[in-house]
Amino acid sequence: MGHIKVRGIILRLVNFKDYDRYLSILTQDFGVLSVFAKGIRRSTNRLGSRCQLFSFADFELFESKGRYSIDGVETVSSFSKLQGDLLRLSAASQLAEIILDNANEQQGSDQLYALFVRACYELDLGRKDPFLITWAAEMKLMNLLGFQPQLAECRSCESPIEEDGEVYFDYHNAAVYCRRHGLVKFEEFRSNTAKISLALLRALRFLADCPLERSFSFDAAPELIEELGMFTLRFVEARLDKRYDKFSFFRDFGLPPKEPSAP
Ligand SMILES: [Zn+2]
Repeated sequence: MGHIKVRGIILRLVNFKDYDRYLSILTQDFGVLSVFAKGIRRSTNRLGSRCQLFSFADFELFESKGRYSIDGVETVSSFSKLQGDLLRLSAASQLAEIILDNANEQQGSDQLYALFVRACYELDLGRKDPFLITWAAEMKLMNLLGFQPQLAECRSCESPIEEDGEVYFDYHNAAVYCRRHGLVKFEEFRSNTAKISLALLRALRFLADCPLERSFSFDAAPELIEELGMFTLRFVEARLDKRYDKFSFFRDFGLPPKEPSAP
């Protein structure tokens, strides 16, 4: 029992009774904490404005028998541009949902925390396409959660896949195939296998190998961003058995990603 101070970012708000709320806070050292915030939805509450979705702050918590309640908040960043933009909010929400669904089973949340905070900074800065930030973060996130696609050699013949031929990807086994075996696989399991571009292969390899802080350091043409989006949607769904698609609303207005299609 006692007071602790943790730096973290709010991933989810769940209303409780008339004026209370539970905050899910992703922290560097303690994973995702569920924190009770009594009376925070009253207009007079001094903490309410500092505890919005994706508020990044130092939180003073009171812990008793494994339950946390909130005592104070010092804002580190409110990510105001992210907060004010529906597309960027959707991007952060999508990443947050994947973390909330999967983080608890993982040991050590410091990498997830570092990646998510960095993604929020990038989304807030607005220097890069929010879709590119989302897909890059998702692939890195999958990597941290232990879902790494096999990208070096053909799953059938084990010959190295060079960045100059045709490449196929098998979503069921999360592995690449050379042209010859990719075509066989494609005939066999049409719904699981698709041809991918060499630009996508390069991007996936970069994301698999780069240090976390370099995840958002590359640029991509619009076609590659779209292909990476389709790939990520399918890859994540196949691995986590759930479709994470906060952007479906925007698709009605012609924004990527489009529905995955056969090559
Ligand atoms: Zn092969």
